[in-house]
Amino acid sequence: MNDYLVKATTTDGMFRAYAVNAKQLVATAQSDHDTWSASSAALGRTLIGTVMLAESVEKNGEAVTVKIDGKGPVGQIVADSDSNGHVKGYIQNPHVHLPLNDQHKIDVGKAVGINGFIEVSRAAEGEDPYTGSVPLTSGEIGDDFTFYLAQSEQIPSAVGVSVFVNDDNSIGAAGGYMIQVLPDATEDAINKVVDRIKEIPMISELLLDNQSPEDILELIFGKGQLHFLQTIPVEFSCNCSKFRFGRDLEGIPVPQLETMLKEDHGIDVTCNFCGKQYHYNEEELTKIIKVAQSKATK
Ligand SMILES: [Zn+2]
Repeated sequence: MNDYLVKATTTDGMFRAYAVNAKQLVATAQSDHDTWSASSAALGRTLIGTVMLAESVEKNGEAVTVKIDGKGPVGQIVADSDSNGHVKGYIQNPHVHLPLNDQHKIDVGKAVGINGFIEVSRAAEGEDPYTGSVPLTSGEIGDDFTFYLAQSEQIPSAVGVSVFVNDDNSIGAAGGYMIQVLPDATEDAINKVVDRIKEIPMISELLLDNQSPEDILELIFGKGQLHFLQTIPVEFSCNCSKFRFGRDLEGIPVPQLETMLKEDHGIDVTCNFCGKQYHYNEEELTKIIKVAQSKATK
């Protein structure tokens, strides 16, 4: 089954719902960053939450950046998604493996920690970014997205994100759902959904059992209760390039660039998001310095 996200509303107009299968997406992140189990789960869950958040935005071309830092062993996690299903991200400490928790699951809460914040920035082209942040509630990521949406965007939601890591560190399953309560929802209907979410198996278990994103939403709301609006392919993809990093280098103070030229005869840049490396030789660095100088004198 390929990775994709499905968008739906319930036929009674009370809920908006999203579900995603993101196994390949998280597998690419795992291999790009060589993450170990706890880091894979923490980064994977963040990527899944971020891509759903980006797809839940009404505006076209809006990018969403999520930063999570709970001062736990994995350190900071950063994920960035456009509104076309492309998401990228990295984790400060990729090599974290912890003993399983009481439920025999990867202890993501412990790996992430709870002494910090989840911060979300939304930026539409040509507009100032909107940034909101709330304290982490459990470090389990799903709960933290839920709390963020309720507190910062006043959208009552339920977010479930799940990653299953095989013994050899490969990704067995990854995906999630996000349910948003619409203004017409009744108390009774909300309680029913909340109860149902508690009853269903973990998302990674459902995905391991070859259930599709549509199946997962039907499991929550019941068959025939949903209008499926759109499916969007999702993937881990980085839009970095030598040109883009060159533009960033032009913003570094000229004396610093000159030192790099004199002492290192060039510069190597590594992309945090995908690990790709770019080298700028003496000639290229000299050009960058010229542009930086002209910018500085403006
Ligand atoms: Zn990159």
